[in-house]
Amino acid sequence: MIPIKTDEEIEIQRQSSLLVGKTLAEVARHIRPGVKTIELDKVAEEFIRDHGAVPGFKGYGGFPATLCISLNDAVVHGIPGDVELKDGDIVSIDCGTYMNGFYGDSAYTFPVGEVDEEVLLLLERTKQSLYLGIEQAVAGKRVKDIGYAIQTYVEGFGYGVVRDLVGHGVGRNLHEEPEVPNFGRRGTGPKLKPGMCLAIEPMITLGTKDVYQERDGWTIRTRDGKPAAHFEHDIAVREGKADILSSFDEIEKVLNNK
Ligand code: MG
Ligand code: MG
Repeated sequence: MIPIKTDEEIEIQRQSSLLVGKTLAEVARHIRPGVKTIELDKVAEEFIRDHGAVPGFKGYGGFPATLCISLNDAVVHGIPGDVELKDGDIVSIDCGTYMNGFYGDSAYTFPVGEVDEEVLLLLERTKQSLYLGIEQAVAGKRVKDIGYAIQTYVEGFGYGVVRDLVGHGVGRNLHEEPEVPNFGRRGTGPKLKPGMCLAIEPMITLGTKDVYQERDGWTIRTRDGKPAAHFEHDIAVREGKADILSSFDEIEKVLNNK
């Protein structure tokens, strides 16, 4: 069963989703060479709690932190720790919040200092693929229309689309039905209806699409060691045009003033 939310529920969910963007913007202020990823995690946890919410990931399935922080060849689910960001890195930060009974879940990949042009392009195009996927998330389309749009766009640049992890429904639970793959055949999958809320999250690699899980039981890395990017928005399916519940506006204000 794919949950359908009322407009009232969607407005409550929007507050959780927007708080993720504000938290990531606060984290973005602290991104620089030399900062430890555990320090970024502290910034996020304090910010979320100060805003009357709780971290959505901490304790979820046993995950030990507020943020998933994944550097370079790490795609997702990296655990914050003593590792320091360095010039030329990219860092994917995925954040969840839980407030008033609803989860927000959104992610952004940041450059650290001076990053290679081909890697910056990977970030830009992965973000663009997210918006192309969102364009498909309207009533009457099917779930795999989203992945088809993402896949055809990024594969045109020779990038890899990670298959082992997918987007998902989001709401009263962090992960709800349906699964939202970033690949697939157009016109297949469950039919989209108004009030479905989805977390759409392309995970795109510069090389192979193949990944493995590290011995820590969490971190997912590319098999060939090439970098990966991850952008995620929460959306509500509507007639005609998807309603994006999360926002990158605050994050990008910070990035543009750096
Ligand atoms: Mg996420
Ligand atoms: Mg997600």
